[in-house]
Amino acid sequence: MALLSLKDIGKIYVSEGNVSVGIRGVNLTFERGEFVAVTGKSGSGKSTLLNVISGMDTYEEGEMYVDGEPTSHFLQPEWEKYREDYISFIFQDYNIIESFTVLQNVELALMNIDDRKERRKRALELIDRVGLSSHIKHKGSKLSGGQKQRTVIARALAKDSPIILADEPTGNLDSVSSKEIIELLKEVSKDKLLIVVTHNFEQVEDHATRHIRIFDGEVESDQRLSNEQNIVQNDKKSIKTRAKGRDIKNGISLGKAIFTSKPRLSLFLCILLFLGTLGIATITSSSSDMMIFFDKNYMFEHIDGRVVTVKRDGSVPTEEEIKALAEKHGAETYIRYDHLLDDGGGMSLRAPHLNDYKYFCADFVYGVDYGADIIGSYPEKENEVFLYLPIYYQDVFGKNEIKNDHIFLSDLRLEISGIKYYYDNNLSPQCLLTKDGFDTVTSLSFVLVNNYPTASLTATNKQGEQTVLSDGGLIIIPSFELKGEQIYYPAKIENGFSPSLTLNFSYYKHDYYSFDSTSFSQSFSKTFGAESFVDASSVNIEHSDKNTVYISTDALKSVANSVLSDSYTQFSLFFENDQKAENAAVEISNQEYIAVPSTTTYTPELIEVILQILMAFAGVFVWILTVVFLSFFVYLCSSRTLLAFKNDMAIMRSMGISVKVIKIGMYVRMLISLMPAYLLTVIAAILVFTSPVLNEFFMYLYPWQFALIFLGMLLLTVRTTHKQVKKLFGQSVKKSLKGGQAE
Ligand code: ADP
Ligand code: MG
Repeated sequence: MALLSLKDIGKIYVSEGNVSVGIRGVNLTFERGEFVAVTGKSGSGKSTLLNVISGMDTYEEGEMYVDGEPTSHFLQPEWEKYREDYISFIFQDYNIIESFTVLQNVELALMNIDDRKERRKRALELIDRVGLSSHIKHKGSKLSGGQKQRTVIARALAKDSPIILADEPTGNLDSVSSKEIIELLKEVSKDKLLIVVTHNFEQVEDHATRHIRIFDGEVESDQRLSNEQNIVQNDKKSIKTRAKGRDIKNGISLGKAIFTSKPRLSLFLCILLFLGTLGIATITSSSSDMMIFFDKNYMFEHIDGRVVTVKRDGSVPTEEEIKALAEKHGAETYIRYDHLLDDGGGMSLRAPHLNDYKYFCADFVYGVDYGADIIGSYPEKENEVFLYLPIYYQDVFGKNEIKNDHIFLSDLRLEISGIKYYYDNNLSPQCLLTKDGFDTVTSLSFVLVNNYPTASLTATNKQGEQTVLSDGGLIIIPSFELKGEQIYYPAKIENGFSPSLTLNFSYYKHDYYSFDSTSFSQSFSKTFGAESFVDASSVNIEHSDKNTVYISTDALKSVANSVLSDSYTQFSLFFENDQKAENAAVEISNQEYIAVPSTTTYTPELIEVILQILMAFAGVFVWILTVVFLSFFVYLCSSRTLLAFKNDMAIMRSMGISVKVIKIGMYVRMLISLMPAYLLTVIAAILVFTSPVLNEFFMYLYPWQFALIFLGMLLLTVRTTHKQVKKLFGQSVKKSLKGGQAE
């Protein structure tokens, strides 16, 4: 059975309305061991014949048999397999991958050898055989024409295919190199079918066993020559589909080779992908606010063991009632006015030691245990505070011991008893206070901070004559120095006059009775008489300003309490842990009380739910849009570089490397290019945990945000590569070879 048999083969080109005949009515049969020279004028159809035989071009008429098997029904995968098993192609203009080394070029053709060492060994043998041993590590672009053609021959040998096709292989070479190449071809094709197209018949005359002349697409003559033909046993190959595992392995090694062979392009791609990743990270951390819907949404500030309670009839509970309730259900402690827990975040602390930013916001808590791993101690006095701060405050407040001992809340000086640092810089700082301290700050927030009062200071003599001592705004400063209901006015008051201070304020409060957050305001005024005022000798305050009045924190509390005690209905009980709190809440809820553990999630109205879901979707949508946009951006920036690949890909395909392997290679290359971005993301994450300074500048990311960033990076890579691959493989092999090649 003939190795190759062409029956009435015709190939017609139709382009832009013009029809031209490539070849027609070709009847030829070829055997192993033949050295066939094909000659003919330019445009006569020689290349067309080789392209049809190689399966790089299809034919419209007739039938081509390979080892007796008809091929007219072949689709792309069969042609690929055919090229892989049967064909080695040698072009006039070399067609080696310029960015690959000689070794890489040859190894490319040895992909069917699974063992890497074996593959390397075989490649070196073949390179030696074509006399290029000293150029193994040289890139294709650095070789001379003859050396390139030798590489191609080594590659053809590597494939060990039964058919070697050479289209004017010496067309660009000087006569000495040409002679060497033809001899080399002859030598290596002993047991193969070698078909050489040439315009210079003399070059092959001494070796060829057959001479075919083509004229106008037809076989003009087919002549046996006297040169001795090699006799070869015919061993039929069968064109089967290839093994899957090998495709992936080959794709991976191809991807690595592509990545390393074009270092500057690869660097460019790495930078692009890094920028893309930066974009994804940014949008992930900023759109996560919208996606927080999927996270827990607590009804009240969640504090371990907290239960929020109101009386069912809406009345204000007495201190005794709360105490009794706490005892009955085994609560560790309680907070009478717990407003600060849910609404204290608006108050900011001033740290005199912080230069650049003097204020930092804080949540105020009470009854929280931060564990044993703390600096200093928990607060014991009313004016003491324990700070729970982001790690980047370590420089200001001390690493192993407390460096700066106090902070101001509004004008109230608080002594720092202990500190604990955390790394999650999304959290806001917390201030842990004693029960008394918490009450003080609560009062401060009701009376002074959130609703600054209008205050007037007047003096009255025995005759009832009044003098207004404050012209314009008075500043009220709370002080732990003063006790009871003491008030201190630093400026001089005339003899015989007794002062009195009046505070007018209104405050907003949340009514959680219905566990609803509607707020209402209440106005209040309180006057302190002469008996409250103390003189300078009994206080330790060095300040003299006629617009300033110091007021004891107890007085402040009494003002707040007299308002709150007949209007504030809610209180918080604290249990050992959330589990106990949940059990207690069930027990407490009865005819008289409604109790809700702080682990309860907020159940908003339907419209709110819908809005939240929409917001969540908007977040997801923005995120996806960003990924798509960025992948488009990366594609656009890198699409010019694709031209550099086009020819390489076509060469690989002409060698019979399957599209699948090349595609896997492209994906692998892109994934490798993503590595620096992956690495930098991970390093940034580590820095957040190891460097207090950098903790302030890098976002702390939660594991799910990380997962999202990595998913985004992966999507970006896949989408970009998909587009590139589509562009690369949109055309047939032959067309891409022509298009990607300098004429
Ligand atoms: P040769 O290699 O002998 O110089 P070719 O096989 O390249 O000749 O061309 C044979 C004929 O087919 C020519 O008339 C040429 O114009 C035509 N031809 C070859 N390739 C194409 C193509 N891709 N599109 C249109 N016509 C083509
Ligand atoms: Mg040609």
